[in-house]
Amino acid sequence: MKVIDHINQAKDTLFSFEILPPLKGKSIQSIFDSIDPLMEFKPSFINVTYHREEYIYKKREDGLLEKVTMRKRPGTVGICAAIINKYDVEAVPHLICGGFSREETENALIDLQFLGIDNVLALRGDSIKTESTFKPHPDGHEYAVDLVKQINEMNQGKYLLDEVTMAPTEFCVGVAGYPEKHFESMNLTTDLQYLKEKVDAGADYIVTQMFFDNQKYFAFVKACRDAGIDVPIIPGLKPIKSLRHISFLPKFFHIDFPEDLSKELLKCKSNEDVDRVGIEWAVQQSKELKEFGVPCLHFYTMSNSSSVQEILKNI
Ligand code: FAD
Repeated sequence: MKVIDHINQAKDTLFSFEILPPLKGKSIQSIFDSIDPLMEFKPSFINVTYHREEYIYKKREDGLLEKVTMRKRPGTVGICAAIINKYDVEAVPHLICGGFSREETENALIDLQFLGIDNVLALRGDSIKTESTFKPHPDGHEYAVDLVKQINEMNQGKYLLDEVTMAPTEFCVGVAGYPEKHFESMNLTTDLQYLKEKVDAGADYIVTQMFFDNQKYFAFVKACRDAGIDVPIIPGLKPIKSLRHISFLPKFFHIDFPEDLSKELLKCKSNEDVDRVGIEWAVQQSKELKEFGVPCLHFYTMSNSSSVQEILKNI
């Protein structure tokens, strides 16, 4: 079933979460172990992130360094199939522009359809670590909107080679939105113009970047509605879990902690202290968002489900 149908048919706020594929060499069981504790809360869908290749330097026998590419977390499509098979729940693979030609994208989408997966989250992806700015594949897409357009064309039976009649695909497409604006964007207004282009190109719903101040989400939803964006906007929530997260999350995801939260975090002496504050904050956020009438609460678990389990017990 499509994510948008889950949302349209829901009588109460839905719950969903996102996991990362395991590191190369780890078994699928590590993913099942993080999903199992959350299944009692009946998630409507589970997102699986996509991770691009990285360049690493391997020391050769002659002492020289060799630059090689590797993907630390391969296997998004395989994991989605495994999740559907084991839990009978929707799995939503993230599909990115980075590193993909249009033909590779088309082939990936055909594989997904063969597996019965008709939900995708369409993203541009970030630049790889060794590049300062995002560089698209020479025959790929520069922005997520172009990926959405390609998927929408396939939904109309238009493939890259227009020579034979093709069966239309039936993808339900989600896209990313940023209540605190995307870090490359000049301002929130231009960011929203580009977000509207994604929706006009066929996106069915938006999932937001994590945020810790609900007022920013409420203002974002209002700004979207004022800009003519009328699809569901799913809030993304991340329970802060460790002392490392205190500097990592704002730096990596370009988001702010509100002052009340930062005051509590500054008192923390251990990961356990942070975990407690993170859970309490996310519970408060979730309750208020539910009251506001959000379609779904989407949790970034980063494959560590214990905090999310605790939050769900409390809301
Ligand atoms: P876009 O919508 O293409 O926007 C990127 C930037 O370009 C923005 O600043 C936008 O304002 C601007 N822009 C858009 N269109 C145009 C245009 N036509 N002309 C000029 N400027 C334009 N990354 C991963 O690698 N893997 C994942 O699995 C993943 N999952 C994510 C899940 C969620 C819910 C979110 C919020 C993000 C995720 N990301 C993931 C990160 C995402 O790939 C990055 O934030 C990336 O930098 C932007 O992706 P986007 O799809 O929002 O890009």
